[in-house]
Amino acid sequence: MNIQPDSRISRRRFLTSTTATTTVALLAPRHLFAQEDGLVQIARRTAAASTITVQKLRGNVSVLLGAGGNIAVLPGRDGKLLIDAGFAGARPRITDALASISTDPVKHLINTHWHFDHTDGNEWLHAEGAAILAHENTRKHLSTDTRVEGWNFTFKASPSGAIPAKVFETEQIVHLNGATIALKHYAPAHTDGDISVHFTDADILHVADTFWNGYYPFIDYSTGGSIDGTIRATEANLATVTDKMIVIPGHGPVGDKSQLTFYRDLLVTAREKVATLKKQGRSLDEIVAAKPTAATDAKWGTGFMSPQQFIGLVFQGV
Ligand SMILES: [Zn+2]
Repeated sequence: MNIQPDSRISRRRFLTSTTATTTVALLAPRHLFAQEDGLVQIARRTAAASTITVQKLRGNVSVLLGAGGNIAVLPGRDGKLLIDAGFAGARPRITDALASISTDPVKHLINTHWHFDHTDGNEWLHAEGAAILAHENTRKHLSTDTRVEGWNFTFKASPSGAIPAKVFETEQIVHLNGATIALKHYAPAHTDGDISVHFTDADILHVADTFWNGYYPFIDYSTGGSIDGTIRATEANLATVTDKMIVIPGHGPVGDKSQLTFYRDLLVTAREKVATLKKQGRSLDEIVAAKPTAATDAKWGTGFMSPQQFIGLVFQGV
């Protein structure tokens, strides 16, 4: 079928990188796609052709950009630790990228939350020998059929090998490859199972989908996410992050405290403006027309979520 139903999307596909295109397809409005060939299938298919970049960070930690959600990698004698699994279709390129880092087999996988652009690769990574750890709500959503209204899609329960064998509730410390890794659950934020991963020695914080660096975020109200929870998570991140810390977002380039601060301010401002207009009795269409996010739309609203989609997600929660 034709998956480029209007010229705006076609041009966007042409202008953006394959990485961004994957998520554009993933988050594009549902009416663009027929039910039987929805955005989830398209995202998976697009991922199979995506380019993956390996970026070395600090203290032996690298990040893979372009396989879905950003994947952090810590190699070593205990076997590689991966933070998130990307799309299953990106397996050949993930395999090549991992081989370029070291020859250690993958032995450990931590999921930051249950979304498929972070867990789709669980099954093959587990089959290769990875033990999977996540928050208990991540296991819960992967274990049963789970609907995401925002994507108009019901995910089938994952096969047993893809489901995290170990879970935790609040915090967990992991010692691997000579490093100490601290995991912490956010209160419900982007979903109800989001965790941060702190490589304490390298001082790198993977904050997963509580931070989209340069793109308006998706917020999954169907599994516990909300704009207020997202803002609370961003405040928690800012309380943790120092000037020296490297911050890995769920999507977008690796960042730092200043970018995280900008993102918090953007979310708070959007929430205030949308809430004020909604209290005045304005409809969603009227609020979109008032362009409450105009200052950032050109930069933040062209790759992942459109301004209209983002305003809709804020509107839903205020
Ligand atoms: Zn997500």
